[in-house]
Amino acid sequence: MLKWFLDYERFAHEKSFDMARHSSIGCGGVAQIAFCPQSVAELTALLDKLRADNIKYHVLGNMTNVLPPDKGTENAIIRMKNLNGIVIKDGAFVYAGVTAATLLRTAKHCGKSGAEFLNGVPCTLGGALFMNAGAGGKYISEIVENVLVYRAGRTALIPVTQCDYAYKHSVFMENGDVIIGGTLRLQDADEKNIEEREAYYAQRRAHLPKGRSMGCVFKNPECGTAGDFIERSGLKGLRVGGAVVSTAHANFIINENNASASDIRSLITIIKNAVFAQYGVKLEEEIRYLD
Ligand SMILES: Cc1cc2nc3c(=O)[nH]c(=O)nc-3n(C[C@H](O)[C@H](O)[C@H](O)COP(=O)(O)OP(=O)(O)OC[C@H]3O[C@@H](n4cnc5c(N)ncnc54)[C@H](O)[C@@H]3O)c2cc1C
Repeated sequence: MLKWFLDYERFAHEKSFDMARHSSIGCGGVAQIAFCPQSVAELTALLDKLRADNIKYHVLGNMTNVLPPDKGTENAIIRMKNLNGIVIKDGAFVYAGVTAATLLRTAKHCGKSGAEFLNGVPCTLGGALFMNAGAGGKYISEIVENVLVYRAGRTALIPVTQCDYAYKHSVFMENGDVIIGGTLRLQDADEKNIEEREAYYAQRRAHLPKGRSMGCVFKNPECGTAGDFIERSGLKGLRVGGAVVSTAHANFIINENNASASDIRSLITIIKNAVFAQYGVKLEEEIRYLD
């Protein structure tokens, strides 16, 4: 156990956090410590202390778009799952740890519509605001008003115009802000209407592969879809160790049989090289590597 843990006993935490068990891809070693702040005050006190002690950390939501390393990590993990409140008035202030499923259930209960495109996306709101999650042609950036962050030792409310949102991009990828929550614009709607919209977006996802994955591994290049280039390169079904390029959707890598993170990285390298060699297209990862 590292000495610095002793100073952190007062923060809610779990030692020896098994990243394979908690990540959707089911890979990765053990993180020495994972904090699970119970309140914004606890989160900001923890971040103040980690910054003062110069300790590196990863802030994580549901771990559905990350590839943890096989060797584990000495960096601290901060899990946002306990910051899970929602305040609905005209719009909704949603804390970072709220899952899309909980957001939709609560919004429907309050007669609010606008986030149904997230139906079935296995994200937390923090992860969605960071990644600019989208589905069915809609992106979360289209319904965000502002994002509450911890930035350089203080909290700040960032208007959406300063979030630099673009396809699979946000300013938070560049600046290290920790997302505490965000205000979403939602409209009044009746339950039947909301359920129809949820069903529409659920049906659009029906073809997505089952099994352990990170969703789409690559961003779509401007000239087409990543899945199409991978499929046309003849890579569907390609295996490295326990990892396989999905035969249902070529932009998904499935952990079929105890794949290691290094199996998945090897497959990613093979895919990038093959698509570049055949089409001159440089695929870029959408997934995020943890170190
Ligand atoms: C089966 C499957 C289907 C998917 N379908 C879709 C889809 O339709 N559309 C889509 O866009 N994505 C999809 N994804 C990918 C993924 O769900 C999204 O990218 C989602 O937004 C990630 O949310 P998360 O809470 O899991 O974030 P994590 O995977 O935990 O984190 C992702 C990144 O966000 C950062 N982060 C997370 N929370 C915070 C925070 N509070 N503050 C600062 N940084 C933070 C992390 O450090 C990391 O870099 C899918 C994934 C799977 C496994």
